[in-house]
Amino acid sequence: MTKDFLENVIEEQKLLDLSMKESIRQKEERLNRVTDNSLGKEPLRAEGDIELDPLCFKDAIALAVTNQGVLIPCCRMDDPKTMNDPLMQDFLKVSVINDNNSIEDILKTKQWKQFADDLSRNIGPNACRTTCAKKKKYTQVVEWMDTEKGETKHVEKK
Ligand code: SF4
Repeated sequence: MTKDFLENVIEEQKLLDLSMKESIRQKEERLNRVTDNSLGKEPLRAEGDIELDPLCFKDAIALAVTNQGVLIPCCRMDDPKTMNDPLMQDFLKVSVINDNNSIEDILKTKQWKQFADDLSRNIGPNACRTTCAKKKKYTQVVEWMDTEKGETKHVEKK
């Protein structure tokens, strides 16, 4: 075996390694892309595995109140997967408006501070994962219904 031959083999091996690494990177990128923006499927959380770009950090979305009188950081949080998330129950418990003197009191709770800290570390419930993921397919799916016929007339993905 000549030195040139061995060098060629090593060079080819390096190229092969690089191409495998690139293929693994592309696969991971595909897996990390959030495509489930609909409600009612399997519960999923952001666990630091995807990058979040929270609209609520930029004042690009308003606080909201559920029909149960619970203050939430935005209306997108009011989805079953988020509201039933066991890790959100403590947060929701301290956010009942009637149990507090002011909205400010709720915003100052350690649960709200923890929630914001978690978001900054890319951790959050399903609503945040689907609404505020940096790499996402859609941020919102809006359906126009013909309520008399019960038919979807138009679907818009934003
Ligand atoms: S979905 Fe979550 S991260 Fe996005 S604006 Fe609402 S609370 Fe903030």
